[in-house]
Formats: sequence, structure tokens, C-alpha cells
Amino acid sequence: MANVFRKRTKHSIFSWDGLGDIAEGRKNLGPEVPVFIYRLLQYTLLDVLTTKYGQQDADDLFRKAGYMAGKALTENALDIHKSIDEFISELQKYLKDNKIGVLKIESFDEKGLNFFLTIGEDLDCSGLKPTNEVVCFYDEGFIQGIMEAYTGKKFMVKEVDCWANGDRVCRFKGCQV
Ligand SMILES: [Zn+2]
Repeated sequence: MANVFRKRTKHSIFSWDGLGDIAEGRKNLGPEVPVFIYRLLQYTLLDVLTTKYGQQDADDLFRKAGYMAGKALTENALDIHKSIDEFISELQKYLKDNKIGVLKIESFDEKGLNFFLTIGEDLDCSGLKPTNEVVCFYDEGFIQGIMEAYTGKKFMVKEVDCWANGDRVCRFKGCQV
């Protein structure tokens, strides 16, 4: 069987540096892009992945991509040496400043590392028509990646409420595994 990884080109291997020098590349247009363009990329990608691999595998692939993003972002843009309270404050500010969403911690058990958190105005799903589904698999992986990069422990994160499920915020339950 052919080794599918042998043919990979450099641009298909994710790295933080691989995101490029955006200030240099977009001197006139700047670093921002409308949310619907972000969603256009995300939802077309999800559609082709689902068509090719089925719903569950496509959702899993999205979760894996979100995990890579959360881990890389934490390692490159946040300070993992801060206390948990300071780290969460920094994360809240980062997510707000970069217009990803409004993070609120509902409960956090430091001993067991169990938590409930909400993301308001979520980049991926806020404003979607209700379809009785939770859809933020990318976010599940994203939060998992952040928590694992900060703690060095393994986590499981599940979305329990979602804009697409009729709620006005996305709510995630997480625990150490
Ligand atoms: Zn959601």
C-alpha cells in the first residue's frame, strides 16, 4: 500500500510559523477577515470531509484540528507558567481580543480538574438556525488542546449546549481522563 504521508508537501504540515508573516503579507488589507468568510471555509470543509468520510469521522477530524489549534495557540501565544486563575484571565482576554468568543467559567474543580464553561458569541456557531444538534466539535478539540497544553494532562471535552441546539451560548463540560 502506498504511503500517503510520503507525498505530503511542506505547506500541508501545520506549524505555528507556517501561518506566515501576515503583517508583511497584508500591508493594506490588514490581519482581519469577516466571520462569514471563516465560516465559509469551515462549513465547506466539513461538508467535503463528511461526504468522503461520514459524519462521525468528519466530526472527529474537526475535533483533531481544533486540538492542534488549541495546543499550538497555548504553547505559542499564552503563558503556561501562570497560576490557573491568571491563565484563565489571560485566555479570556485572548479569546475576546481575537474575537473568538466570550469565555466564562461556570465551575472549576481544581482537584479533579472538572469544569463547565460557556463561550458566548461563539465564532463557529452563534446565530445558526436551531437544528437540535450540538455542532462545535472544533471547539471541543480546541478547549481540550488548551487544557492539555496548560496542565500536561489528558482531557475529554464535550459540548452540552449549543446555539445550534437552541441555546444562546455554547456550554462545554470537561474532565481529566
Ligand atoms: Zn456551539
